[in-house]
Amino acid sequence: AKSEGIGQIVRYSGSIGTETRERIRLLHELKGAFAAHKLFLVFQPQYMMPERKIFCCEALLRWKNDEGEFIPPDTFIPLAEQAGLIVPMGIWILRSALAALKTIHQAGFPDIKIAVNVSAVQMRHQDFLSELDLALEETGIDPRHLELEITEFISIIGIDNVLHLLNEIRSRGISLAIDDFGTGYSSLASIDKWPIHRIKIDKSFIKHLDDAEEKARLVDLLISLADRLSLNILAEGVETQSQFDRLLELGCQEIQGFLLSTPLGLEDLIRLLQKGVAD
Ligand code: C2E
Ligand code: CA
Ligand code: CA
Ligand code: CA
Repeated sequence: AKSEGIGQIVRYSGSIGTETRERIRLLHELKGAFAAHKLFLVFQPQYMMPERKIFCCEALLRWKNDEGEFIPPDTFIPLAEQAGLIVPMGIWILRSALAALKTIHQAGFPDIKIAVNVSAVQMRHQDFLSELDLALEETGIDPRHLELEITEFISIIGIDNVLHLLNEIRSRGISLAIDDFGTGYSSLASIDKWPIHRIKIDKSFIKHLDDAEEKARLVDLLISLADRLSLNILAEGVETQSQFDRLLELGCQEIQGFLLSTPLGLEDLIRLLQKGVAD
């Protein structure tokens, strides 16, 4: 039994070693890709119901490695966060998203907004606000056309710091959305204290909207909560017509998901907007 135990420890640490080496290799590759300007953004439309009008698009980061495979952001963003790389990368994301929005505006769609994901690690960096101001100033984008998507993890920087930061952001006219709402632990308890404009219902709730009645009740609850707090509410990850119909029944006015559009390259997004006008 004793030797078996030791064997297990050796196997265990052995596999950690492999995993760590893999992560270091991936991070190294990511740094190289970022430095070589190989990362890019795609944009997923957000629709206002019942008009089906695109009012905003969410910028999503993409990395295609040298083998031509897409590495999912859920894999590489946490690595970038741990290594601090998310700070320069986040500045680049913000600038690129704003530059893309400028192109969208110049293509004849001056009311479209852009939503940019920002991680807590990035936001707690001391230069965050000044970088934000600089990016807005240099692109000439009106702050009211920018939304930042944050998650409840932001509370790791402490509630007082969070409130100060969020109020600073809001005072510029930038709007704030809580992403993946319902997956964190603090959501319902503190949501009324946060200076936010929009709640994004996590796709895990939408996924089981058809088959699990309790999920539908939760979505219903979130929609009434948002209504009570005078917040906008957006359902993400909407993939099927029945999910869509159910959401409309429940009174959800903003929808994002593969059913309406996948994330698109900038040119495709502009083509889609042009088609919308032509219809
Ligand atoms: P998120 O912010 O919750 O983004 C929504 C994710 O859902 C995106 O995955 C999007 O492609 C996907 N999605 C959209 N519609 C549907 C649908 O109908 N069904 C399903 N199953 N999925 C849908 P993506 O692009 O792989 O991003 C994953 C996560 O990586 C994001 O989740 C976000 O947390 C993070 N991420 C992506 N881009 C950035 C970025 O620029 N900065 C930061 N900090 N994080 C990012
Ligand atoms: Ca998001
Ligand atoms: Ca989300
Ligand atoms: Ca997420």
